[in-house]
Formats: sequence, C-alpha cells, structure tokens
Amino acid sequence: MQAGTLLTPRLAEEAINSRLTCLPIESLPLTQCVGGTLRENIYAERDQPPFDRVTMDGIAVDSEALRRGLKRFRIQATQGAGSPALKLTHGDNAIEVMTGAILPSGSDCVIPVEQLDVAGGFASLRTAVVTAPYHNVHRRGSDSRQGALLLETGTLLRAPEIAVAASAGMARVRVSSQPAVIVVSTGDELIEPGDPIADFQVRRSNAYAVAATLRKRGFGRIGDDHVPDDENLLRERLALHLTTHEVVVLSGGVSMGRFDLVPKVLMQLGVQQVFHNIAQRPGRPMWFGIGPQGQAVFGLPGNPVSTLVCLIRYVIPAIAEAMGTKRGQPERLALAAPVTFQHALTYFLPVAIEHGDWGRPWAAPRPPNGSGDFLSLAGTDGFVELPPGPNTYPKGFVTSVYRW
Ligand code: AMP
Ligand code: MG
Repeated sequence: MQAGTLLTPRLAEEAINSRLTCLPIESLPLTQCVGGTLRENIYAERDQPPFDRVTMDGIAVDSEALRRGLKRFRIQATQGAGSPALKLTHGDNAIEVMTGAILPSGSDCVIPVEQLDVAGGFASLRTAVVTAPYHNVHRRGSDSRQGALLLETGTLLRAPEIAVAASAGMARVRVSSQPAVIVVSTGDELIEPGDPIADFQVRRSNAYAVAATLRKRGFGRIGDDHVPDDENLLRERLALHLTTHEVVVLSGGVSMGRFDLVPKVLMQLGVQQVFHNIAQRPGRPMWFGIGPQGQAVFGLPGNPVSTLVCLIRYVIPAIAEAMGTKRGQPERLALAAPVTFQHALTYFLPVAIEHGDWGRPWAAPRPPNGSGDFLSLAGTDGFVELPPGPNTYPKGFVTSVYRW
C-alpha cells in the first residue's frame, strides 16, 4: 500500500487483518476466562442431562397407576439430589423426590408437591394430574449427547459459555493470551490530570479514554506513556515499547505538522508502514504499520473524537481478530433524524441510542463541534458509519453502529 493512497475503512480493515499475527494460546482456570476467546473445541463429557432429572419437588410415581385412576400413594422413601437412584418396589407406591434428583427406577413421572396433600406417610392427589410418562422429568441426553460439540474454537467466553465449559468438566480451558498493549500519548502540550496547567496546555485525556475502552472490553495488560514531540526521545521510548508490547497505540503526531514525528520515527525503527490516511472523517490521518516482530502499531490522530473513533473502528476489531475471536453480526441501527454530509469521505457520526414507543432502538445524531469536541461525546452511546457523501441520509437509514 503506497503512502498517501486513500483507503476506504473496509479496505483499511482488511489491510490490518491480513497482516496481524495470531496471539499465542494459554491454558487458564475457568474463573479467569470471562471475556476471553476460546482456542479449542469443547465436547460434551456426558449426556446432558446426564440422567433423567427430576424438575419439581414432589413424588415420583409410575404413570400407569395414574391412568388406572389411583389417587392415593404410599410414600416409600425419599430421594434427594446427589444420591443414586432408589427403586419403586410397588406400582401403587411413590417416592418423594426433590428437584435435581435422579428419577427413581420403576417410576416415570413426577407430581409436584403443590398438587398433593401429604399426611401420615401417604400423598393424595388434590386435583386431576397429567398422566403422561416423563412429565416433570428432564430426560437424559435431551439437551445434548456425550461427545457433541458444545463450543467451537473462536467462541467469546461469556457467562453461558463458561457454564457450558464447566459442565463439560473443564477446570481449565485454552484461550488466546491477551496482548500487551502500550498506549502512548505524544505532544508537548499534554498535562496529567491533577498537575498544574497553563492556558496553552491541555489535559492528557485521550490516554484515559483509550485505556478505559480497552479495560471495558476485558484487556488488562495495558501500559501507558507520554512522550513529548522530540524525535530522539520518541525513537528511544518507542524502541523500548516495541520490545515489550504486541500492540502499540499512539495518539497524536500523525498529521502534516512539523512536530508530527510518529510515522518518521516508526519507520526508523523498522516498523513497515501499511497505510497512512483513510478516506474518513474524523480520523483521516490514521497510520498503521507492522513492527519487525509482527507488532501491530496504530498511529491514531490526536484529536480526541478521532482517537476514540479510530480505536473502536480499527484497533478493537484488530485485537479481536488477532485473538481468533469469531465475529458476531455487526450491530445496525436506523437514524432517528436525517443527516446531511457534504464530503466524499466515510462519516463517523456520534449517536445516542434511544427507544421509541414500541421498543425500537434509534440512533439519534449527536454531531460534535468538530473532532476536538469530545465533551459532546459524554452521554452518547457510540457512532454510526455513514457512506461517503455528498448525500442526505433520511430518517430510518439503517447503518452500522459501534459502541464506545
Ligand atoms: P495531533 O494529532 O498531535 O496533531 O493533535 C491534534 C489535537 O489533539 C491537538 O489539539 C492536541 O492537543 C490534541 N491531543 C493530542 N493528544 C491528546 C491527548 N492525549 N489528550 C487530549 N488531547 C490530545
Ligand atoms: Mg501533537
């Protein structure tokens, strides 16, 4: 890809993905896997449920007795969860059973305690009951058979998937290791929150937004650095970061100004430029390259709206791709109001997600006052991606949405 070629966002994304190195695999205890990407297939250890499982507290009987019209059963024994199956010794008997117990042998259905009067060792039916076999029984193997594929490699592990892995007897699972990410702010004007500040300086807010975005998505190995606009210092610090991180996220220093030193210094360090500039607003000067050891290096423009939009549009999906995460359907929403855009660039427009009277979500435009206006992002939910203009996109126009 030649420097200066204006890529579309989709081609930029493809250019990134085709150069990423897959992250290594590690084995972790299940308790540490939430938010991770599974890197092995998981198969059912046993039938699921593994036995005919009682689903109500009540009595287990032979449904044949119900069909004969029997209404009063002698309670022969009690069967709790976690005990081996008892045996019904006579067709007119019942065994008291608890939810989660194995169905006693000789019985084939369960009458819930709410439908019974229990006294003196007998249970009497209060009402007419269902007489079909296996009523209130979760049958062995009805959810899945032993050996069935339960979770595929690439699955994002959330609470339900973690439960499935636990049910398969997995104490540890193989997941993608998290990348070590360094977030580097560049700029002489940037001052840490809490430190004294002059009129001509600004707070180093991007670093906090970038780290928050990564942490919210479960990435925990995040470093932070701030480097002034000094070529030698920048080279020295980036050289170090490249040896210790798989992903480098820079903010600032990628535009056309005299102190926009990032592309030059990265190339001096052997980081191969893949592209510089994307046909988009905001975030046009975004830079991407691959380091000598396959490190992914993202030079995000420093304007705070650009930084956040580019991070979420490109960096987060790239990390997911490097972790081998299977892609879900991209979220799409309809515009709540028409939007006019004059430029031949993809337009990333901040939106608040609102719900209409019928529960339908809408993307309500919240255009910032330029790409430096990050105050207007507070209270928004993300941004939509609109195709290049000039055009007016009507209310109801459906397009991709990316959440903060
Ligand atoms: P640059 O991309 O370096 O030309 O920066 C563009 C604008 O974004 C300038 O007004 C910078 O002061 C501002 N900016 C750069 N980095 C940050 C940061 N980490 N936090 C807040 N603003 C920043
Ligand atoms: Mg700068």
